[in-house]
Amino acid sequence: MRNDRRPWFPVLCAAICACAAQHPSPAPAPSAGRYGTLDRATVNRMAQRLDLPLFWAADSNGDGAIDPGEVKSLLFFPSAPAWTRGGRFTAEFDAAYASMVAAARIAPRGGDAEARRRAAVLADLDQVRPVLVYSDLRGLPDGDRRAAATFLEVARLIDHLYAIQTGAAALAARVPDDPASRSAFRRNWGPRCAAPKTEKDPACSAIPGAPKPKVDAYPDDVQDDPDFCAALEKRPDAKALLAPFVVVREQRGKPIPVPYADAYGEPMREVATRLEEAMWYLGADEKPLYDYLHAAAHAFRDNDWQAADEAWARMNGQNSRYYLRIGPDEVYADPCSQKAGFHMTFARINPQSLAWQDKLRPLQQEMERSLAALIGPPYRERQVAFHLPDFIDIVVNAGDDRPPLGATIGQSLPNWGRVADESRGRTVVMTNLFRDPDSLLDARELCASLLDAEAAALRTDEALPGLLTTILHEATHNLGPAHDYAVGGKTDSQAFGGALASTLEELKAQTGALYFLDLLVKRGVIDADLQRRAYVDAVRWAFGHVARGMWTKDGKRKPYSQLAAIQIGFLMDEGALEWDPAAATASGKDKGAFRLHFEKWPAACEKLMQQVGRIKAANDRAAAETLAKAYVEGDRVPQAIITERVLRQPRTVPVYAVDL
Ligand SMILES: [Zn+2]
Repeated sequence: MRNDRRPWFPVLCAAICACAAQHPSPAPAPSAGRYGTLDRATVNRMAQRLDLPLFWAADSNGDGAIDPGEVKSLLFFPSAPAWTRGGRFTAEFDAAYASMVAAARIAPRGGDAEARRRAAVLADLDQVRPVLVYSDLRGLPDGDRRAAATFLEVARLIDHLYAIQTGAAALAARVPDDPASRSAFRRNWGPRCAAPKTEKDPACSAIPGAPKPKVDAYPDDVQDDPDFCAALEKRPDAKALLAPFVVVREQRGKPIPVPYADAYGEPMREVATRLEEAMWYLGADEKPLYDYLHAAAHAFRDNDWQAADEAWARMNGQNSRYYLRIGPDEVYADPCSQKAGFHMTFARINPQSLAWQDKLRPLQQEMERSLAALIGPPYRERQVAFHLPDFIDIVVNAGDDRPPLGATIGQSLPNWGRVADESRGRTVVMTNLFRDPDSLLDARELCASLLDAEAAALRTDEALPGLLTTILHEATHNLGPAHDYAVGGKTDSQAFGGALASTLEELKAQTGALYFLDLLVKRGVIDADLQRRAYVDAVRWAFGHVARGMWTKDGKRKPYSQLAAIQIGFLMDEGALEWDPAAATASGKDKGAFRLHFEKWPAACEKLMQQVGRIKAANDRAAAETLAKAYVEGDRVPQAIITERVLRQPRTVPVYAVDL
């Protein structure tokens, strides 16, 4: 299961950043000739409009002009021109730059239907700002580099398979020869617009006439019936037809299941061949990855995904430097939520997280003991061992891993089969997404729009404060009353109901992330300065989740949003966090700011930890509902103000570049 999509709402902030007084940017030198016409945000926006695989990563030398060393070539575009050669721009770059300058002058306007469609498509593209995920693999061992190069080729094949599944491939020939339409079609995996202001606009489509795509998993004519999923579910052969790794085809007027490996034989065999090629590049130290590639190649030929899962589950952050997952997994793109979409995640294990896990492991029993003492009976200390997720740095995401907006930042797999049934799957947390300079600027802007100057100054670009709270959050899932804990034979989901149980479990984990910081200071693992920066980072995290709203469309609790509101409200009640409606924000642009009273944090976090721990230890549903109600509902927490300030920032989507 994909457990989260980052609500990152970044900012087109060329104008705004100059005001961030605590981070002055170098004054631009006089514009350097012909490449200084467009600012960085405009270059990157125009490249998307023109479907160009180009990204201006940073104005490193601050001269206001794009330089050869500042350009990245993006993956997963239809073309791959070389923008630089020998440290100089190529003729292709010159032409691209000229077209970007011309495109920036176009102000889309209404007119006939086609003009309105094109204007809507540009609006769809412009609302989502690309943010860079860059990996420098040039330092890897030679064999690993060759394997990585092969994975990048496999990523393209997976994109193709996924485009067949979504129905995009069947419509590709109908996209007009207009770069913006092509770009939107590529990013959105089909003609439909996807950005917040245009997704419901009937005129917004990458193809004139806005044809409705049909997924490949079911016969075309079946999909004309809006209730076709329900009709399939009622059939006696529903289980076979709706299995995750088969498509439904028609044979003599009857629907039959056809395995993916038969339905997509040729492109899947091509993937298998390339995976086997990659195997031979790996050294003996990557044996578990070698074994997985072998098993995955088999699965792409014989559809035996369970065997691939067995090999995959044997890999971990200790025995491989890489995280690779390839195959059909999630069902989000399927209209019936049954068919698994093809994806490939290729990442590196984050070395900083491994080092911190090593530092925390000797403390795991002490953490459990302190939590058990805080909660008291009926909860009793038990022997614990951290089962932590793999913390990974994404190199590339392919297929279903690359939604039109945002990105997956955590995932547990597989969804089916013995490995899943026996809880032998793997969970990952993506640690490098939204860590690029633009996203960091967004985080800085967000803090400056909600915190006072003193608190905002403690937000840094460093990864460590966020990584530390993430590790502690995941560790705390293993501590105190956990998933196997029961009172009178009742587990937490039986006692509280699914959504409230998840909210409490996530609240426990995220409160542990704050509570245990103090223990780490006392044991000399971290200093008080890092503790404060981690508090500030956790508050920023909570703002983002509050802004997503407390309830789903069908009225279910959103666990992360609700826990964020509970934490903010509880910390306010304890005086650790103060909302001052008259205070100036760090940016100076708004009235009404949060202030952190750090001396009160350890006691406040301990109190909340105790309360949540006791609710879980007693399965006390009434107390849980009272706690949630106090902060999720009503205006104790200024949710509307937080939401308005967070949502000022536009949405983003990662784009990928790799140096090999
Ligand atoms: Zn969690």
